[in-house]
Amino acid sequence: MKTERKIIGFGSLFGWYFRSNLLLRISAGLILGALAGLLLGDSILFIKPFGDLFVKLLKMIVVPVIFFSLITGSASIDPSRLGRVGVKIFVYYMITSAFAVAIGLLFAYMMNPGANLTLDSAMASSSSMAPARGAPGFMSIFMSLFPSNPFESLAKAEVLPVIFFSCIFGIALAHLQHSEDPKIASNAATLFKVCEGAAEAIYKLVGWILEYAPIGVFSLIAVVFAQQGLKVAGPLGHMAVAVYLALATQLLVYGLFLMSARLSFTHFLSGAREAIITAFVSRSSNGTLPVSMRNMENLGVPRAISSFTLPLGATINMNGTAIYLGISAYFISNLVGTPLSVNQMLVVILTSTLAAVGTAGIPGSGAIMLIMVLDSIGMPLSEGGAVAAAYGMILGIDAILDMGRTSMNVAGDLVGTALVAKSEGELDLSKWKK
Ligand code: ASP
Repeated sequence: MKTERKIIGFGSLFGWYFRSNLLLRISAGLILGALAGLLLGDSILFIKPFGDLFVKLLKMIVVPVIFFSLITGSASIDPSRLGRVGVKIFVYYMITSAFAVAIGLLFAYMMNPGANLTLDSAMASSSSMAPARGAPGFMSIFMSLFPSNPFESLAKAEVLPVIFFSCIFGIALAHLQHSEDPKIASNAATLFKVCEGAAEAIYKLVGWILEYAPIGVFSLIAVVFAQQGLKVAGPLGHMAVAVYLALATQLLVYGLFLMSARLSFTHFLSGAREAIITAFVSRSSNGTLPVSMRNMENLGVPRAISSFTLPLGATINMNGTAIYLGISAYFISNLVGTPLSVNQMLVVILTSTLAAVGTAGIPGSGAIMLIMVLDSIGMPLSEGGAVAAAYGMILGIDAILDMGRTSMNVAGDLVGTALVAKSEGELDLSKWKK
């Protein structure tokens, strides 16, 4: 009884915290953390463990997130529908994702966010994860994709082999679900449901961990500002501008794609604006799906095509996220004082493209995938390290970045859908005339 009362007391004491908007709380954590760090200086350093705890919680979920969401992502590609339309949309999604990371890296290269700042050397050296100096050659990166023992790779959190294994496992599962032998098909369907359930449970955990994010962000940022002062604010704004410019460029690339198929870009924008705006405010491709479907119908795409390509796109095609991943990796590597080598950039393109497949279409999931991309280039997050401090900085403005990247994620799905419908001769062109 006593305990129960205590719990109720705890709930009402912190009720305001859980009831208030998470985005506002995270932004408040960023601003208050910066102020506390600036005003209190070294005397605030005692809160460092609260930031470290946040980093540990994030690390805890990374491998399960990759494993289960990539399995469910790749198993959702129905092989029986992977006919011409499927192949076309899949190829489009993969190419535009890789293209998007490259655009992101190009903007990062041109604008070089974070170049004038190296997070405190004490921090950098306390990190056990300074990127490997002699970056490995392309062939050895390629070979490291293949696990000799997937369970060992999972246990050691080796990102590339885990991605590879989860993808092919998912594809195998997709095939088995359509087996002629009903027993095999039903076993596979059960296993798919288990993985889907596990992915959902992990995302529930992500949600809970994010409830702690305001405190984690506050502590990480306070420590950064206490040690570095105001000079970190500029690079963060610089990075956000780089992301938005790259997203705008991606939109122009879509325009070129449409024009090359003789479809009007402005007409597309006016037909798809509801979905793009909904994605911006909801920060969720999944949540935007009903609006995306409606917009595509208004643009003359038959349901038979959009009901396949749009949900698939909301699951595996995240061009905006891919851009964000590329720029963030570049920014963080600058902040820790070891700019990306060419080989590391190639790895970023590869892992970000795959990470975009594994990113769930819900708010904030791209930020979790960033941990995996950082891992793949030898910059794992670790408590008290410079990578964790830099990551905390980005997370502080994640909501702003997520709005832009989600609208480009959705725009990419819509453009791909229109292009595939046109190439199949199934687009109602009368809807594209004024
Ligand atoms: N919020 C994004 C989406 O739903 C995913 C991300 O966080 O990058 O598309």
